[in-house]
Amino acid sequence: MGRIYFDNAASTPLDPRVAEAMTRFAAECYGNPSSLHAEGRAARLAVEEARASVARLINAASDEIIFTGSGTEADNLALAGIPADPGGKPGDVVAGAIEHPAVLEKCRHLERLGAEVVFVRPDADGIIQPETLAAALRPETSLVSLMAANNVTGVLQPVAELAAVARRRRVLFHTDAVQAMGRIPIDVRSWDVDLLSLSAHKIYGPKGVGALYIRRGVRLAPCLYGGGQERGLRSSTENAAGIVGFGRAADIAAAEGATDAARLVRLRETLLAGVLEAVPNAYLIGHREKRLPGHLCLGFAGQEGEAIKLLLALDDAGVAVSSGSACNSSHAGEPSGVLAAMGFDALRSRGSVRISLGRFNSEDEVRSFVEILPRVCGSLRPLVSRRASSPDLKGA
Ligand code: PLP
Repeated sequence: MGRIYFDNAASTPLDPRVAEAMTRFAAECYGNPSSLHAEGRAARLAVEEARASVARLINAASDEIIFTGSGTEADNLALAGIPADPGGKPGDVVAGAIEHPAVLEKCRHLERLGAEVVFVRPDADGIIQPETLAAALRPETSLVSLMAANNVTGVLQPVAELAAVARRRRVLFHTDAVQAMGRIPIDVRSWDVDLLSLSAHKIYGPKGVGALYIRRGVRLAPCLYGGGQERGLRSSTENAAGIVGFGRAADIAAAEGATDAARLVRLRETLLAGVLEAVPNAYLIGHREKRLPGHLCLGFAGQEGEAIKLLLALDDAGVAVSSGSACNSSHAGEPSGVLAAMGFDALRSRGSVRISLGRFNSEDEVRSFVEILPRVCGSLRPLVSRRASSPDLKGA
């Protein structure tokens, strides 16, 4: 067996059908989508078809989708656009303490510009409760930003309930759905959100393309100034081939997402049961059921300090997994802010391994992993302290 790629939360392989659509488009369609001639019109048509595909996947209208250069850019556009007072001070924000750095760091930037940002914490299962949000809202709050699915734990947030809390207080609601898209059904109407971020490379599409859903009537400030593309919010010649790939990936997710998800839940459960049996100190982090279909976050009691060594040893053994967020590899070995926000102490916050399965993973790979993991865990420093025994260690 070749290498096993279990890091689909960091990025997914390009689906060959997406690669084919992009290659054909890039070879044949070189016009600028803003040009009036036939070549330009052909490119515009392809971009607009892709916009319709992305919109369909989340039950939005095409004119509510703005293409961006990434999920990070979509998050930044959503948060930068909040209304400022006449003096230019941005409005106050409530955001999750477990958000991706694309939201967290933008919030810190807004704080430097004078905004007040309140970070709300999840419960021990990794879920931000609607009451917690309600208690954090102030009359001055302009925007709430809470993600749909967490990139470290895979835990799903109750987006519709959280958005309803913000709606009742007439506060704009943004959700980062980068991990959720294509993995669970998203319906911007039933969720009743104002802004929602997406990224193509998490759904077997290309890297460097994202999108922001902006509900009709919501006003944002541009993130790029220039020729006025993307309704003036994100000027620059569109990455048309990337957008075409995003559209194709969204169509495939719409057609196959439910089947993929059901299969991934089965694989995830087989893997979890196998690991908990073969590695006695392994425990599940985050809510047992309310999680992305293919996503597991595991701790190893007594070996938490060894998580990076475990990851590298697994890599040597031919398996790619992650510790926390791939976007954080420069901070490898540092405590995870997500686990700390869930109430984990400093030692246990350092020790998670993220396993994220995807469309191209097989049962054979799961079986091999369950054989490889105990060997690799056994080769690390012997258990020094304790077994998983504290009540907040899920699956222990
Ligand atoms: N938000 C979440 C929840 C993510 O997991 C990621 C990527 O890991 C991003 C935002 C950033 O997306 P991109 O890599 O397209 O910038």
